[in-house]
Amino acid sequence: MDQYDVAVIGSGPGGYVAAIRCAQLGKKVALIERYTTLGGTCLNVGCIPSKALLDSSHHYDLLRRHGKDHGIQINGSFDFDIVSMMKRKSSVVSKTVHGINYLMKKNKIHVLYGHGSFLDSNAILIKSDSGQSTIHVKSTIIATGSKPNTLPFIAIDKERIITSTEALSLDEVPRRLIIVGGGVIGLELGQVYLRLGSEVTVLEYADRILPSMDLSLSREMLKVLKKQGMIFHLSHSVNKVTRNEEVVEIEAHNNSGDTVQFEADYSLISVGRKPYTDNLGLDKIGVNTTSSGQIETDQNLQTSCPNVYAIGDVIRGTMLAHKAEEEGILVAEYLAGQRPHIDYNLIPNVVYTWPEVASVGKTEQQLKLENIEYKKGQFPMSALGRSRASGDMDGLVKILSHKQTDEILGVHVIGARAADIIAEAVVAMEFRASAEDIARISHAHPTFTEAVKEAALATTGNRPIHI
Ligand code: FAD
Repeated sequence: MDQYDVAVIGSGPGGYVAAIRCAQLGKKVALIERYTTLGGTCLNVGCIPSKALLDSSHHYDLLRRHGKDHGIQINGSFDFDIVSMMKRKSSVVSKTVHGINYLMKKNKIHVLYGHGSFLDSNAILIKSDSGQSTIHVKSTIIATGSKPNTLPFIAIDKERIITSTEALSLDEVPRRLIIVGGGVIGLELGQVYLRLGSEVTVLEYADRILPSMDLSLSREMLKVLKKQGMIFHLSHSVNKVTRNEEVVEIEAHNNSGDTVQFEADYSLISVGRKPYTDNLGLDKIGVNTTSSGQIETDQNLQTSCPNVYAIGDVIRGTMLAHKAEEEGILVAEYLAGQRPHIDYNLIPNVVYTWPEVASVGKTEQQLKLENIEYKKGQFPMSALGRSRASGDMDGLVKILSHKQTDEILGVHVIGARAADIIAEAVVAMEFRASAEDIARISHAHPTFTEAVKEAALATTGNRPIHI
């Protein structure tokens, strides 16, 4: 039986990063993956393909809607080809996945393809179509991720009633697409098809979109997306989704108690994701899970079985690739005798629509709930020279800092490149900077990041320069 210091089950961003860091720290590592490609949800059916389609559709939309403003004339036909767009997306995925194969070889990590399950806390069975094998391990990191959630009355048929996985590979543009759920994944994929010409309608149970974001950003983003043509029905509780040949029929109750009917040719069910632990054998090793199926861990991400750890989407916390990566590194370093730490408050949240939405730290609603006194300053993107030059006028930066100490407590951004802008806020907050610190730091001109400096000037007194 092969022996390893560490086995990692699952090769997503949590698992493969944990495997690399363990190998860097001198461990003999096996990485177990049930699919034939490495990279997990993120690389295969998540972050990377969705961003590839968002980028392709953004280029098309920019030229179509704003080409003329920039003096670009398109003579003759101007169109897109969904099949080519999907081919490009697949090629981006396959190049990225191959990059992970290279990293495994470089770090001398043994990749074992097949479904992993515990025989006991030191033995893992790996089963694939071509046979089965058992390895002996000192420690195991469970990084088995998550899968799309649905509602009990919805039967996903993967043809017309689909999840994000199918939405990333459609071979036609839906004429009418209904998205059930106004969270990150629904809005990102909704924007892809909106740009390509679909009529996109979002049905959301809550009275707002992007429920974990700061409320004022969520309201602002709703306005921006409506302006782009996305249709929203908030406070609508979907209770029936059925397929009638090529048509999907949806019934919902609104908050006045009326029953409302909708029809579409595709419906994307985007109501969150759930932890994936199927046939992992957790019962054999006494690993506890919560009522929602997450594996329970302590602050070192150790489970109730002492030599078994868990990271990423399969445990509590936001389902984000970079959160899974940080946890992979934490466990690897903990196993090597180090004392690593993650500040979960400083894991940034991003929505890759255009404009992008990004935030870190506390929302205003959280500060109020926690009775923390704060100051607030904001600055609109429309007042920036950089925004006028590119034509990206929507959005704002909002900074929340402590009323007495001025320490930055939260930064919330909507705007072009918000996903990149937020890095400045994360660094500042890691170093416990004040809004005054940011206000006094030189920001290159013209850049979108000038809005961060101006918002800091607004937070520390009424002194922004350009408004
Ligand atoms: P996963 O990436 O889910 O990987 C788990 C792996 O474990 C899978 O490969 C699975 O096959 C394997 N596995 C499961 N059980 C077994 C077993 N028993 N034996 C062997 N292998 C097993 N996050 C971001 O941060 N940014 C984004 O832009 C972003 N966009 C997204 C877009 C979409 C459409 C979706 C669906 C998700 C997106 N996410 C994004 C979320 C991100 O993909 C996840 O948070 C991330 O992949 C979680 O990583 P993980 O390592 O925990 O698990």
